[in-house]
Amino acid sequence: MSKSRLFNLPDMKQSAAYRILINGIVQGVGFRPFIYGLANRYQLAGWVRNTSSGVEIEVSGPSEQLDGFIASIQDEAPPLAHIESLQHESIPDNGHEGFQIQSSHTVEGDYQPISPDVSICEDCLQEMLTPSDFRYRYPFINCTNCGPRFTIIQDIPYDRPKTTMAEFDLCPHCREEYQDPLNRRFHAQPVACPECGPEIWLEVPGTPQDERLSGDQALQTTQRLLAGGKIAAIKGLGGFHLACDAQQPSAVSALRDRKNRPAKPLAVMMPDLAAIRKFCLVSEAEANLLSSPQRPILLLNKNPDHPLPENIAPGQNTLGVMLPYTPLHYLLFTEQDQFPQAPYQVLVMTSANFRGNPILTDHEQVREQLEGIADIYLFHNREIEAHCDDSVIRSVPAKEGPTQFFPIRRSRGYAPQPLLTPFSGPPILAVGAELKNTFCHTRENNAFLSQHLGNLKNYQTLTSFEDSISHFEDLFRIQPSLLVHDLHPDYLSTRYALQRAEKENLPTLAVQHHHAHIASCLADNHDPGDEPIIGMSFDGIGYGDDGNIWGGEVLVADYRSYQRIGHLEYFPLPGGDLAIREPWRTALGLLDHLGIPWDPNLPPVGYAQSLDGVMLGVEPIEVIQNQLASQTNTPQTSSIGRLFDAVSALLGVRQTTSYEGQAAIELEALADPDESDCYPLELSPENTILLPALISGIVKDLQAGQQVPTLAARFHNTLAALVLELAQRARQSHSLNRVALSGGVWQNITLLTHTVQNLSRAGFQVMTHSRIPPNDGGIALGQAVIGLKTLSVED
Ligand SMILES: [Zn+2]
Ligand SMILES: [Zn+2]
Repeated sequence: MSKSRLFNLPDMKQSAAYRILINGIVQGVGFRPFIYGLANRYQLAGWVRNTSSGVEIEVSGPSEQLDGFIASIQDEAPPLAHIESLQHESIPDNGHEGFQIQSSHTVEGDYQPISPDVSICEDCLQEMLTPSDFRYRYPFINCTNCGPRFTIIQDIPYDRPKTTMAEFDLCPHCREEYQDPLNRRFHAQPVACPECGPEIWLEVPGTPQDERLSGDQALQTTQRLLAGGKIAAIKGLGGFHLACDAQQPSAVSALRDRKNRPAKPLAVMMPDLAAIRKFCLVSEAEANLLSSPQRPILLLNKNPDHPLPENIAPGQNTLGVMLPYTPLHYLLFTEQDQFPQAPYQVLVMTSANFRGNPILTDHEQVREQLEGIADIYLFHNREIEAHCDDSVIRSVPAKEGPTQFFPIRRSRGYAPQPLLTPFSGPPILAVGAELKNTFCHTRENNAFLSQHLGNLKNYQTLTSFEDSISHFEDLFRIQPSLLVHDLHPDYLSTRYALQRAEKENLPTLAVQHHHAHIASCLADNHDPGDEPIIGMSFDGIGYGDDGNIWGGEVLVADYRSYQRIGHLEYFPLPGGDLAIREPWRTALGLLDHLGIPWDPNLPPVGYAQSLDGVMLGVEPIEVIQNQLASQTNTPQTSSIGRLFDAVSALLGVRQTTSYEGQAAIELEALADPDESDCYPLELSPENTILLPALISGIVKDLQAGQQVPTLAARFHNTLAALVLELAQRARQSHSLNRVALSGGVWQNITLLTHTVQNLSRAGFQVMTHSRIPPNDGGIALGQAVIGLKTLSVED
């Protein structure tokens, strides 16, 4: 095959020449071979090359052909490419002959977006499963249409020496494909084969190093041990998974015990859509998203006829499911007929991080930290440059119109694809909040929202946070001119911003948590911000201007500023942070605040009485009494998230939690979808949501022996009705007709769908999230756009 071809140019009479600059995701996606093919088709001469800001082309030929060429670039771009801009200018004809693909060219200070990792493509999958192919059963097969990107890139321009594939020299066979412009692997930087590429091996603790299995033997032994109920640590694209057979309840509970993760739902991987359809209810739109190149974990309704063991997602109606996305994953599902659960193998695949610690990537660390948890380790020697968790998405069932998708965690497959901001400005770093931390850099009108980093609560996550920030600044050539942080003085992200600002003499901006939520929703919807919006920020925690914990906030906001026009009535959180993990404390605080007696028949009261009095010889219930009376360690909150906790405890659903949001999630799962009643709505003239009627109504119903699913539904209905009432008041007072719903509480699909229905019927225009999560994982984008707006106002 020829690498470049000479051909006779047609009559040069009306010939012209252009230089074309293309920006966007145009590297590592087969763009140059595509341009090469087009140039051949239009019989144009010239060259194409990668630069650090995108792709540059020089072409000459007949004017008409050139116009067709440019139109075809836009119309026929490869599936993974994303053209953000295409500019062309006339240049003198440089007398090119033929068309060449030139080597990359660096422009100082320039940058380009970097492709997220892409799941294995259909062509590579077929090759991998074809016995005659020289990459048969090779776990690292890839091409320009698929494979690792973000997780292996060390620097730009995206070329093999600047990836963690640099240490693998190409064999002649791979090199030939790599250099052939007509090959699917032309300049596929991670290209590899069994001869020259990375390999896998299996480690079984206690087995001598020279008896380690590699290649297919390692794979088959892993499959056999998984089928025997063992727990495997498996190195993947952006980190390690802990895997076990999902159809063996004992394997699942062993994994839970060892990981000390009693209840948090575990994600599962299934070999194909047929398997997913057996265990879950899947719509057409959901099937498409599951099989997309991003391959997120999708939360699907369980199929009640074919349940997986309850201990995979206890107390939930949904199951987090994904398809295999690397060749290695697919290999784990081959030759399934020899395993006990045939024909459908299902694997638990949960990330091997520890309670908010960053994902493990280093082998030595993995052996050490997973000791006693994993029985076996399936390693490989392609290094992970950037760790990246699986993304999680929930679908919103739509009565009419297309299914909407709602990110819960935006990470692998999506990060670091830039989000376009509604306006441009100097580079900014927004450091996010504390839980589900992500940060966000901007450059012109691109926002680079980081992958999910987890809860920023300890030294390890802080280190990972700092490393990731400098990696982004290197990759995207960003020097921030402003650092934006949460108003909370004690968040590690806030401290990082303040310390760095002092060291580098940079300005900082503190943004109120809920203002950032509403701004993130505006930015998610690409709203230009010409007009303020009614913002309902319903969330867990957010440090308020008055020092209280906000989280049930009605704002009138734009990107620049906000006004708090209403909020949930304050109530005490006896024990502070402890109350968040132990909702019974919040419930007692709420009852006390409303003057409702602590009747021992009420579940949280009964629970408190059943606890042993171990705290300084005082009964737990007395401790709460004392805290409330003396207001010791008892912050005031207006948080809807905490209200959910209290109601969940009050209804006997959950008194203590082992993961964030558990009490609310289980309450939602119980709500009777056919119940339409609600409790009386109480709002003060100042738009304070009052709680007496709601809570005493629930208590009365409970004491009258009403069913918990009915009461759970009425609670949801009441909140949805309150939002409508508040929105109508704001429409009256501020002449606004648009409502933004943001904050972690809106992950509650029951509340979301009821609220959106109510508001739409009343003629409101409703904004929800679709590109970034409504929870704190999206807050950095809100901070960043507020920063951009603030700078532009100052100018
Ligand atoms: Zn491929
Ligand atoms: Zn090779």
